Formats: sequence, C-alpha cells, structure tokens
Amino acid sequence: MKEKVIDCHTVWNECLKIIKENISPQSFDTWFSPIKPIELKNYVLTVEVPSMFFHEFIEGNYWELLKTAIKKVLGINGKLEYKIPISTSESGSHKSSMTLPTSTISTAESQAKKPIFVAGEQEVRQIPNPFVLPGIKKLNIKSQLNKNLNFDNFIEGDCNRLARAAGYAIAKNPGKTAFNPLFIYSNVGLGKTHLAHAIGLETKAQFPELTVLYVNAETFIQQYVDAAISKNINDFVHFYQMLDVLIIDDIEFLSTKPKMQEAFFHIFNFYHQKNKQIVITSDKSPAEMVGFEQRLLSRFKWGLAADLQVPDKDTRIKIIRSKLYNNGIEDIDEEVIEYLAYRIVTNVREIEGAIISILAQSSLNKKQITVELAKQMIDKFVLNTVHEMSVDYIQKVVCDYYNMPVNLIFSVSRKRDIVHIRHSSMYFSKKYTDLSLSQIGAKCGNKDHATVLHACRSIENLIATDKKIKEDLNNIDKILKNS
Ligand code: ADP
Ligand code: MG
Repeated sequence: MKEKVIDCHTVWNECLKIIKENISPQSFDTWFSPIKPIELKNYVLTVEVPSMFFHEFIEGNYWELLKTAIKKVLGINGKLEYKIPISTSESGSHKSSMTLPTSTISTAESQAKKPIFVAGEQEVRQIPNPFVLPGIKKLNIKSQLNKNLNFDNFIEGDCNRLARAAGYAIAKNPGKTAFNPLFIYSNVGLGKTHLAHAIGLETKAQFPELTVLYVNAETFIQQYVDAAISKNINDFVHFYQMLDVLIIDDIEFLSTKPKMQEAFFHIFNFYHQKNKQIVITSDKSPAEMVGFEQRLLSRFKWGLAADLQVPDKDTRIKIIRSKLYNNGIEDIDEEVIEYLAYRIVTNVREIEGAIISILAQSSLNKKQITVELAKQMIDKFVLNTVHEMSVDYIQKVVCDYYNMPVNLIFSVSRKRDIVHIRHSSMYFSKKYTDLSLSQIGAKCGNKDHATVLHACRSIENLIATDKKIKEDLNNIDKILKNS
C-alpha cells in the first residue's frame, strides 16, 4: 500500500475540522483562522500564531480542545508547538526608543532652576501632584476611580469579550502580560470608560500597594497647560512616571497637540522600560487615528488593541436586566426588557437613557412599567435610535402589527392567522436581510429553505389577490422602511 503523505497542512486542516465543531463560528474565525501551519516533524506540529497575546489566549482558553484535536489527528505522541513572528519593522527602533533618561526632557536651564532630585540632600523634593489643589502638601495620589464602574457590572458578551479578558488579565498581572499597552477603542457609549475604571479597580483590589491612576486625556491636557504656565513640565512628567499603572481615557484629545504628545511619549517609554502598565482608550483604532506622531501610533500597537462593539440582542437584554436590577427594579415584565433590547441598538448609553426616563415616568406618574410606557418614552426621548434589520426585529414588527405575541411564530400551529404571521415574517426577512432561505427558516421555528420559499410565494400571491392583506403588508413594509 502506498504510504499516505501527511504534511502540516493536512494535519492542521483535520484539527481545524474538530475545533470548528466545538466552538462558535465567531471564535473560530477570531482565534483559529489566523493560525498557519509551518512544519510537521516527528509528530510535532508547529504553527505560527500572530502574536504573544494570541498564544496566551489560545493556551488559556482552548488548551483542552487543541490537545484533543492534536491527539485525535496525530495520535498520543502528537504535540503542538507555537511560533510567534517578531515584528521586524519596529524591533530596531523599539529598543533604542525605550531608553529614556529623564534628563532628555529637562533643559539645562530648568534643571538649574528647579532641581528635581538634589544630590546629597537628605530629602527628595516632593513632586507636585496635579491632582491635588495647590497648597495641599501631602503627595496623596488618589486613583480617581469610580467604584460603580467595575467588572461585576460590566456585562460580558461577544462584543467585548477580548477587551474584557485582556483587561482582567492585566489587573491580575499589571505590566507583566503581553498587553502593554492595552489599547481599547470603540464608538461612544460602548463601555471604554467603564472598562478602564474596572481594570483600575481590579488592579487596586489585587495589588493595593500599587499606585494606579485613571485620567481623562482632557484633564491630562489641562494639567500640562497649567504645568507649562508655571514652567513645571518636568514635574508634570515626573509625576506621571512615578505611578505604577496609568489609565488614560480618550487619548484622541491629544490629536494635533504635538507638545502634549511628546510628554506622553516620554511617559509611555518610561512605563514600557520599567514594565509598568498603560491602558489607553480611544474612539478609533491606532491605524485610523489622525493627528498623531507616527512614533506614538506605532507604540500604541506594541501591546494589544481590542475593540468594543455594539452588543448583540442577548447581551443587550442582560445589560438591561442588570441596570434595572441596580435601580431596584426586580419584577418587570420580560416583554418590556425584550422591547427595549430590540428598539435600542446603537449603544449602551442610549439604553441607560431610556431606562432612566422610563423609571422616572413610572415613579412620577405612579404608572406601571409596561411595553406601552416603554414605547412612549423611547419615541419621545430616545430620538436617534436605529433599528437593527434582523429577523428578530421583523418578527416583532409583524406581530405588533397583528397584535399577536411573537412566540406564536415558533409554534407548530397551523391556524390560519398564525401561519400568516409566520409567512409574513419570512417574506420580509427575505426582503430586508441578507440571510439565506435556510438561515431565515432556522430563525422562524426551525423550518427548512423550501418552507421559506413556499411562504414567500404564497405571500406574493396574497398581495396580488387579497386587497386587505395587501394593505396590511404595505403598512408593515412602511414601518420597516422607516425604521
Ligand atoms: P464610552 O466610554 O465607550 O463612551 P462608557 O464606558 O461611558 O462608554 O459607557 C456608557 C454607559 O454604558 C456607562 O454608563 C456604562 O456603565 C454602560 N455600559 C457600557 N458597556 C456596558 C456593559 N458591557 N455592561 C454594563 N454597562 C455597560
Ligand atoms: Mg468614555
């Protein structure tokens, strides 16, 4: 018999098949698609992973699965080894730019006027703390952390899993993981500030002796300006260099401010050199940022850049439930929660806004919190909501229109009006989403693609023959179009 030729690609593909069956498609794409098989030698498969972080994450989260896959494909002697590419473009400058004698930013003149550390003196001069009012002598660095923004109430979902996991890892091991800096980016209202505080609080809880500081870049800028006026830039930079963990929120404020970027550059280098942790948040990824010096942008990419996305419906539901609970509302109609989750899809801040206005209205007018009240409040106060054109949303609109509960769509009933809402939902899902017929079927009570096709045809027939139905469907179409 001819010996089967096994190469690293074949082996890895077999492993991928096993892995694929055991994890979600999203996790598969994120964590396994970027891995490249390199070599197979003596039952040892070597794969290349994009970064140190990748390696740590895979080992931390998928070790069992990988082990099983390798043993299944290569037998009990099978082993997996990782290779991590070294960034060539950066590595040269990386090293040299990390050495920052503090004197590089102190002019001879200012050194003479304002010695920072005076040799031979017993006491080291206190560096002014821009977080305390002038006149208050004691250097008492408060973390400026908000206890209400913690990990416990930062709801996890696919939208934030990576950033959350990395943030948590940092808090357990500040400055010692591959995620330095941790660069978190997203649109507004998706939890950057919350996560930034949570990381700080958890770090403090784990390591009370470390000096952790949260600062918004706007405050940082103001402090820089004040320091420049009083000619104390050195003190300013030294103050920041004395901390152990620096969390700087909304770094985009430093855009087109070269002097402040330079100060931050020196602080950053110092942190990196001393293995101190930096966490940065921004409204854009490092690749999309404008108005920043290249050397700073490239440093933002040294660690991990992780984004926060709009939470999916299930996560929105969890967030709403948790916010209501935190506001002391425990017994609320599930339908209200569902309704809020499908109406507000832009960001978490809007969800909070809606909840607050609903709670205010309900307590002010002693009204019960009903879907009707939620609807009124959202229409009135949350003006800029955008509807997600998902099958869920379409089903909700169709059922609302016919005044029927959504769950009937998933029933096996063949009653005419129920079949009609099921068929109409399929018809509009085909019209307004990019999903395949079988995907639509799966979301409409586990029907196959032929059923969906049949449903769409029968609705088209009804539109052509039944005036009343045509009018109803036109109305629904208008609602969907205006969403
Ligand atoms: P950003 O800084 O990205 O603009 P924030 O951190 O200020 O967003 O978040 C806006 C609001 O939404 C905050 O009140 C925050 O507590 C809340 N929030 C965001 N994401 C989550 C989440 N995953 N779980 C719970 N609350 C969240
Ligand atoms: Mg923010």
